[in-house]
Parts: sequence; structure tokens; C-alpha cells
Amino acid sequence: MKKITIIVPSYNEEEALPHLYERLNNMMNKLTQYEFEVLFINDGSKDKTLELIKEMRSKDRRISYVNFSRNFGKEIAMIAGLDYAQGDAVIFIDADLQDPPEIIPELIKYWEEGYDDVYARRNSRKGETFLKKFTSKMYYKVLQSLTRVEIQKDTGDFRLLDRRCVNALKKMRETQRCSKSMFSWMGYNKKEVMYDRDPRIAGKTKWNYKKLIDLAIDGITAFTTSPLRVSTLLSIPTFLSFAIYFIYIILNVIINNYKVQGYQVILLLNLFFFGLIILLIGIIGEYLGRIFNETKNRPLYFVDEYNGEKEQNL
Ligand code: UDP
Ligand code: MG
Repeated sequence: MKKITIIVPSYNEEEALPHLYERLNNMMNKLTQYEFEVLFINDGSKDKTLELIKEMRSKDRRISYVNFSRNFGKEIAMIAGLDYAQGDAVIFIDADLQDPPEIIPELIKYWEEGYDDVYARRNSRKGETFLKKFTSKMYYKVLQSLTRVEIQKDTGDFRLLDRRCVNALKKMRETQRCSKSMFSWMGYNKKEVMYDRDPRIAGKTKWNYKKLIDLAIDGITAFTTSPLRVSTLLSIPTFLSFAIYFIYIILNVIINNYKVQGYQVILLLNLFFFGLIILLIGIIGEYLGRIFNETKNRPLYFVDEYNGEKEQNL
């Protein structure tokens, strides 16, 4: 019997958990051909989340949990989930039921057809402001233009991953994690499933604009080092204006016997040296980008198949 682990990062979710359990339980009871494990990662909750999880576990042995020593954030909760999951496949789901568990059978169906990474894409986002939707759309446009890795649009962390994807992700131990970029980067056979994202069932969102800005910056720096190239690019117009102005003055001197003014010399020197400094910063940036990528210490590649056999990445 194949085992499927449902990973639920939970931070102060006491109000949502009973609803979540009910819906998950319904779904799991229908899929009798699988063995399920529901793995809660209690991310340093300050409310009764842990007590609730323990109570659920005492009644239902499919439930297990990891209790963090403090709040580490959802990204870290997710990798902990991968580390502790026992299933042949894992499914990430939010505790607040924004990701409807009723989609899970469809995710599993595509997994059985041989897809490794079945991700759910939102049709709509109920209960979110226009501003949040708009900024998120613009953000992904900018992000995609900066990187060669393909970014999946309107996709969160709600997805099913085959064991070999889990093993692959476990090899990516960087501390500043951006799962979205890792899912894209790791590759494998991906399949999209559409769904309607519901509003949060109870409790409050853990996000605010400050956290979202942090996430946006993390996202860009995780996907690409191209912002470091800004400096190199800026040096070009600076040098160009220096060159044009320089030639203009020299010609004036030769043709019109023009007497060069003090301020013009200063302006020229300024343009030249500023251009030089910006260029040098750009060069440092290029090396910094390479160091940054090396320090992630990622595997160089993942193998899908070897001589017709699926590679498990052990
Ligand atoms: N979460 C977590 N640690 C945190 C913040 C959030 O484990 O520091 C969990 C949270 O319990 C929920 C999921 O991550 O299961 C998504 O959080 P939330 O619903 O607040 O985010 P939103 O859906 O508003 O983006
Ligand atoms: Mg939510």
C-alpha cells in the first residue's frame, strides 16, 4: 500500500485545525487504497495548536507532528516536513483551508499517471484585496523577466511531490529558502491542476506588507543575481557621456581655438572617475554573485532516469 504524507505547517492555527481535520478526514476515508500520514509542523505557536495536535494524535494514529523550539517560519517548517515525512509522496497544505483538501484525490490521480510534481494553480483568490492580487501579478512578471528558470504563475506551495522530488529537495540545504524557486529549479515532470482558492476559514493571516516585501526580496535574490549587474550596466551611460563631452571639447579646442574652462575639466574628471568606480563595483558584484551561488552548495543536477529506470536521488 502506498503511503502519502500530508504536511501542514502550522503557526497559531487553533481555530482552523478542527475544521482542517474534519475535511482531511473525510477525504482520507474515501481514498481507502492509500495509507495516509498527516504531519503537522508546529512552528512555535503561542496558542493551543500543539495541544490540539496532541489530542488529535491520541485519537488518530495517522496524525504525527514535529514541534519546533520556536517560530522559524513557513519555509523552514516545510523542509522539516520533508525531512520527517515517511510517505512515497508528500502533499503540502496550509492549515487555514485556503487549499481545499478535496483537490487532493486529483493530485494523487496525476501522480499515479507518473507525474512527479503536481501543483495546484489558483483560478481565483477569494477574500484577497485588489492591491494584493495586483502587486503579486506585477511581481511575478518582473521576477520572470530576471531569470531563465521558469516560474509557475498563481501557484503557492499546495502541491504533491513524488519521493524522488522530496529526496532532491532535501539535498538543497540553503538557509535562506524560497521553495517556489526550488520547485522550479529542481525540474521533473510537472502537472498543473486548477482550483479556486478559498478565503481563510478562521484565524488571521500571518502575513503583512512588511513580511510580503521581505518575501519579494527573498524571491528575487533566490531566483537570480541579476540585480548585482545593475552597477555594471550603469557604468555604460556614465562612460558614454564622458566620451561624448570629451570629444566635443577637444574638437572645440582644435577647430575654434576654444579655451577650456575649469568647471569643464572638473566635470570631465568626475564623469570619468564615477564611471570607473561604478564599473569596479559592478566587477565586484559579478564575483559576489558567483560566490553567492557557490555558497548555496546545491547539487549540480538531478537525474530523471538512468537506463530507463527512475532515479530516486538517494
Ligand atoms: N505558517 C507557519 N509559520 C509562520 C507563518 C505561517 O508555519 O511563521 C503557516 C500557517 O500556519 C499556514 C501557512 O503557513 O498554515 C500559510 O500561512 P497564512 O495562511 O498565514 O498565509 P497566507 O495564506 O495569508 O499567505
Ligand atoms: Mg492562508
